[in-house]
Amino acid sequence: MLFTDIVHAVHPHLMKDADVPDFMRNLIQMLCDIPEEDWSTKKDPSSEQSNKESSLRKFYTKGPTKKLAKSMLGRLTEDNFVEAIYHDDNFNERTDVVLDSLVEDILPFVDDVNRDNVGEVLFDLLKQSLEFIVNPELENDRKLSAAKTKSSKAKGLYGAGLLDDCRYVCSMSGCGKHLQVVNNKNHAVDDYEITSINIDKTPTYENLIAVCHDCFQGYTFNHIKAEEKELQTIKKLQIDARSTRRTLDEVAIEKGIAQVIINLSKAKPGQLIELNYDAVSVPEKIDEELHSFLVYEVKGHVTKYFLFIEKTMQDLSKRNQFSDDLLRAQIKESYRKLAGKKNSPETIYSALSEKLRSITKQDIRFCAIVISYFIQSCEVFNAIAK
Ligand SMILES: [Zn+2]
Repeated sequence: MLFTDIVHAVHPHLMKDADVPDFMRNLIQMLCDIPEEDWSTKKDPSSEQSNKESSLRKFYTKGPTKKLAKSMLGRLTEDNFVEAIYHDDNFNERTDVVLDSLVEDILPFVDDVNRDNVGEVLFDLLKQSLEFIVNPELENDRKLSAAKTKSSKAKGLYGAGLLDDCRYVCSMSGCGKHLQVVNNKNHAVDDYEITSINIDKTPTYENLIAVCHDCFQGYTFNHIKAEEKELQTIKKLQIDARSTRRTLDEVAIEKGIAQVIINLSKAKPGQLIELNYDAVSVPEKIDEELHSFLVYEVKGHVTKYFLFIEKTMQDLSKRNQFSDDLLRAQIKESYRKLAGKKNSPETIYSALSEKLRSITKQDIRFCAIVISYFIQSCEVFNAIAK
């Protein structure tokens, strides 16, 4: 529940010494405008008369009742609350350290919060969380729209790979829905969502999986730990199957790679990029945490094909069909230009692969393998390569 998530997050930095009932009473007083004549009466939702200590503890762990949420919503006062965020009980200004901690606490729930607006943002969040209690469907809407934003972001980078992994069938156990529909022009169109297996963890390749819309919604609203475990097992099987497929297609892939290199050797000088032997090295590093899919893919390519590519290039070089130095310098320069424009490693990787594809007219996957070779041999992302 959003209310309990927020309250638990801010408690350590807002009234850290208060025990749970005091904290809850204070919070209600901060949020609500209670006329003096109502203090300590049943009309005051923070009073002993309306809510006993044991109830306040329950509200803290499970969230307020609808009744309390309604009564608070009717009395909300933003000014009081914001004032209380920036000043403590003794009217002393809260330190930047405290404010920064509060910012950290609520960062997972909002897009934009800083020291100057933390009071207003926290007020809005708590208000919203109370509205969700009165009308639980709203909270589901919020969860779903947040999950859909994540899903569509993940589609760009991981979509094709994840669909390939699950063979276009919903990954959820017991569901066999196909993840493509036929549009009015008789074309198959991808129709799916990507869910995080562990919702709290970063959306990396290992934590993402393709599912149908129904399973996506169900999993987003609610799922038990056992379902998460099951999904993890399915994900592991998908990853294993992916590496097996690689082995099976090896001969075809090697042919493809060789063709990429042969075609590259025939490319006109400058077709790849203008020459610049003085290319300054850019100390760019692929962060494994942030770019785990890319690192995983590149490592896979390199493990399998590095020696093959190296040998193919040497053979062509010996036969004077190919200038190894020239190609390396051109790739390096292409990379330098892309990195200079502050592109992400994923963008650079796909842009370079696409560049090779347009020149060699070979399958993009083979081109990506060749680019992976250059990543390893230092022309691209020089900091991670040896
Ligand atoms: Zn499904």
